[in-house]
Amino acid sequence: MPMNGKFVITCACTGAETTKQQNPALPITPEEVARTAEECRVAGAAILHLHVRDDRGQPTQNVARFRDAIEQIRRKTDIIIEITTGGAVGDTAAERLQPVMELEPEMASLDCGTVNFGDEYIVNTLPVMRDFAAAFRKHKVRATLECFDLGHVYASHYLIKEGLLAEPYHYGFVLNVPGAVPYTVENLSAFMRAMPAGADFTVMGIGRSSLPAQYGAIANGGWIRVGFEDNVFFSKGVLATSNAQLVERAARIGHEAGLVPATPDEVRSYLKLKA
Ligand code: ZN
Repeated sequence: MPMNGKFVITCACTGAETTKQQNPALPITPEEVARTAEECRVAGAAILHLHVRDDRGQPTQNVARFRDAIEQIRRKTDIIIEITTGGAVGDTAAERLQPVMELEPEMASLDCGTVNFGDEYIVNTLPVMRDFAAAFRKHKVRATLECFDLGHVYASHYLIKEGLLAEPYHYGFVLNVPGAVPYTVENLSAFMRAMPAGADFTVMGIGRSSLPAQYGAIANGGWIRVGFEDNVFFSKGVLATSNAQLVERAARIGHEAGLVPATPDEVRSYLKLKA
């Protein structure tokens, strides 16, 4: 078991696609996101996966928006900030990468391939992934290697062989995106087997798979991501009252398995994040 009985909870509190119509408690403004970050940290999250929105609530990769949100989060909590480079459907690669280059966060997501995303699709060619990985390395940003498909895990091996990624490797398995791979124990196992030896992974179950995916993660030594980006419900037909409510449950699930949520500083040390 990695980290001596600790496990890591990430909260993806906003995302690009979720709306206040789907859950009125969705944090949108930098103030709301900062308050959420503080609550989630108290509930047991060590990492905040960050998307930002513009004044109309639409997703944006605008650097000033990210800077504002990060400054407000930093005033409230020591949580690790992981910026998205997935952005929203339709963003160009350059737009998606801009906040990493300018703001040099401790962590950021790095999508490892092309995939259906409902009726839309996410495009990441190997040349784009190489550019992203090289930028991450240059700016000392730890990647969460987001894999929506089994082929994405194998594609990550090219980046490793080419020396574009530094250890320790941390994967994010995104399961149950419509049009991609459903969450099942067998599918999670296949993703795990395709990882390089010794890598860590966070499981993200989208929609109704969120809860089974959390149990799957814990049973296999993985880490958990929850939050309104992935799922706005607490249980069938019942909206979550806050992101922190979902983090609290993830902490309880780990607790029942004899695990304690790692603190941000423990994760900083374990994943060798820059000082
Ligand atoms: Zn995201």
